[in-house]
Amino acid sequence: MTNAFTLPPINQIDDYDPNSLSVDEARRIIHRYLTPITRTEEIAIYDALYRITAEDILAPFAVPDHDNSAMDGYAFHSRELVTPQVSLRVVGSVYAGHPFVGEIHAGEALRIMTGAVIPSSVDTVIMQEAVRREGEQIDFAAQGVRAGQNIRRRGEDISQGSVAVARGSQITPAHMGLIASLGMKSVKVFQPLKVAFFSTGDELTPVGQTLEAGQIYDSNRYSLKGLLSSLNLECRDLGIVRDNPEHLKHVFNEASQWADVIISSGGVSVGDADFVKTLMAELGQVVFWKLAMKPGRPLAYGKIHQSHFFGLPGNPVAVMVTFYQFVQHALRLLSGQVITHRAPQVRYPLAENIKKAPGRMEFQRGIVFQNEQGEWLVKSTGNQSSGVLSSMTQANCFIVLPMECGSLNRGEWVEVELFNGIV
Ligand code: AMP
Ligand code: MG
Repeated sequence: MTNAFTLPPINQIDDYDPNSLSVDEARRIIHRYLTPITRTEEIAIYDALYRITAEDILAPFAVPDHDNSAMDGYAFHSRELVTPQVSLRVVGSVYAGHPFVGEIHAGEALRIMTGAVIPSSVDTVIMQEAVRREGEQIDFAAQGVRAGQNIRRRGEDISQGSVAVARGSQITPAHMGLIASLGMKSVKVFQPLKVAFFSTGDELTPVGQTLEAGQIYDSNRYSLKGLLSSLNLECRDLGIVRDNPEHLKHVFNEASQWADVIISSGGVSVGDADFVKTLMAELGQVVFWKLAMKPGRPLAYGKIHQSHFFGLPGNPVAVMVTFYQFVQHALRLLSGQVITHRAPQVRYPLAENIKKAPGRMEFQRGIVFQNEQGEWLVKSTGNQSSGVLSSMTQANCFIVLPMECGSLNRGEWVEVELFNGIV
């Protein structure tokens, strides 16, 4: 990369704030506070998509439980492969679900279908397209035929007694199938984490009502609802809380009696009506409230009584960025998920110059696209103001720019976090 990534002297960094934590530091700190819930329940695998396993699932038997054919073809013993041309007599057929009873002798073969159990007297399968059959006779060239080929081995998927699915795994469609292949109908999972969320601000109007002068619609609760919905949580929407410390305190006290996690938006900056931080200190603990990131400088994390609390910024883009970068990960860990690696980042060259001041880590909204020459590039969605929510609807990725990085030119490579892989 270029010298844009070397840190300039502090007095030359426009955006430097000595009181704010770096994103990495904040992640490390949050991590120390996150103890997963212990409540579990047994549920049907059919209903278990995206839930988190609460115990190791051991394989009671091997999968597959017997050697079986990977092809529709003919099974025979590899000691027949002694002449360049092999001729065998087909003495029977074996189908999936109908094991063959009997013996295969020298010079004999069996017609065999995919998934059928390999009888003990044969060890090799040749696919039907590779043989010539006339009546009960098959002929094929021995060259290229390998002893033991086209057989799926017992235990090649899962060996007996091994951990098929580890505790703390999020159950994907593949896990559902895998657990079912072990004959299990139900699975022990963590109960959903309880999350209460609300918006703060005197300017907010619920959708469906007419806007008064100076009012805006409360959009954050809707983005948050969407963000939370992808995580299998038990959510309570507590509505809009006015910029009134008594009201806010009441809501905090009520919410913390039920919720494992409380999430609010707005009221965490340093304006006169920003009471959230003061109340956190009064009712619980402020762990941090200012980060060297953009958007999302005011992001409060701490405790309200026993509940974890995330005070997200008010700006709609900042809500989403801080959720993706901090809250989502924390909610997964608290839900019992064991996360071994963060979301992967990939590198793309910039299609256009982008502006950035050193001093904060930035998550710019970007679009990864293919140009007419078929090359993959990334560009900014345009206006990066943290109030421009359309930047999030247009984007398919975050362009992740490290704290010390400055403006970058077209053609330089940047790290990107894609929003969706296969969904
Ligand atoms: P605050 O952090 O409370 O000062 O809010 C920062 C900016 O975000 C202000 O322009 C607010 O009007 C806006 N904002 C705060 N909460 C919401 C919300 N729930 N929906 C839309 N915009 C909001
Ligand atoms: Mg506000």
